[in-house]
Amino acid sequence: AKYTGADRFREHNSALDATAQHHAELAAALRRGLERGEFRLLYQPIVELPGGTVTGVEALIRWHPADQPVISPAEFIPVAEHSGLIIDLGAWILDQACADAAAWQQRHGSGGPRVNINVSARQLLDPDLPGLVADALHRHGLTPDRITIEITETAVFAGGAALETVRELRELGVGLALDDFGTGHSSLTLLRTCPVTTLKVDKSFIDDLNGTAEQEAIASSLSTIASTLGLRAVAEGVETRDQADRLHALGYRYAQGYYFARPIPASDIEELLTGPVLI
Ligand code: C2E
Ligand code: CA
Ligand code: CA
Ligand code: CA
Repeated sequence: AKYTGADRFREHNSALDATAQHHAELAAALRRGLERGEFRLLYQPIVELPGGTVTGVEALIRWHPADQPVISPAEFIPVAEHSGLIIDLGAWILDQACADAAAWQQRHGSGGPRVNINVSARQLLDPDLPGLVADALHRHGLTPDRITIEITETAVFAGGAALETVRELRELGVGLALDDFGTGHSSLTLLRTCPVTTLKVDKSFIDDLNGTAEQEAIASSLSTIASTLGLRAVAEGVETRDQADRLHALGYRYAQGYYFARPIPASDIEELLTGPVLI
């Protein structure tokens, strides 16, 4: 029998069905996981260069389904977004991160780490988000300067209302970080309209700092843009001592990456607060 266009179409469609079904199953499992308390937040230090003092941490979610290996956010966050579960999951993340931030503030005062919280596109389209953040701060007795909301350029451009939500968040007094900075189509345009306080310079600009003049010029320009606009620049994905040294020489004051620390449980962050990560 001849292999026709229709066969190919059917195959294509059943592949789509399989994906849709897989997504539906995963979405149901995510909802059960949220009810059963299977999610955990890890925290990755953000350090000051050159010493390595921890000034902040980024909350990064993990899913531990019963009797199964841990699942990374890259796999389930997109499904949580499409299914809408990110609204409830995001509320849990916000609450847990604020609870941990409050515990650090109680023990270490203003020396406790500020906590960065990732917010996805779908959450920025939710007009209730600023109210939710204000409520979480209030319940945990936190001042707004203790947390920074991380957003992406894609999320800000996802809809007209997103930018308004971002402005309302900023009016609350929380920090606003533009994540994966430099990877979008209009990163610079966004800086004119979006009231961010921090640029997180994407790992791709940090990876190739092996002495090529072009890479250094780009990394250096990104930190200059930040300081000219009065923003902080955080170098993301720093994996080696050499990168950390070069970034410091290029004017970076803040960095995050496996060289300093991997994402770790809140209780392990505690041990890093008494001194620099690196000796
Ligand atoms: P992201 O926000 O850009 O987070 C940085 C990712 O890079 C994290 O991956 C982190 O573990 C990883 N990373 C940090 N330092 C290094 C390094 O030196 N080398 C390398 N190779 N990787 C490094 P993770 O935890 O798997 O998270 C992946 C993405 O999932 C995040 O990217 C973010 O987009 C999303 N995500 C994670 N947690 C949350 C959350 O609580 N809410 C939302 N909405 N999204 C989240
Ligand atoms: Ca982030
Ligand atoms: Ca990032
Ligand atoms: Ca990313």
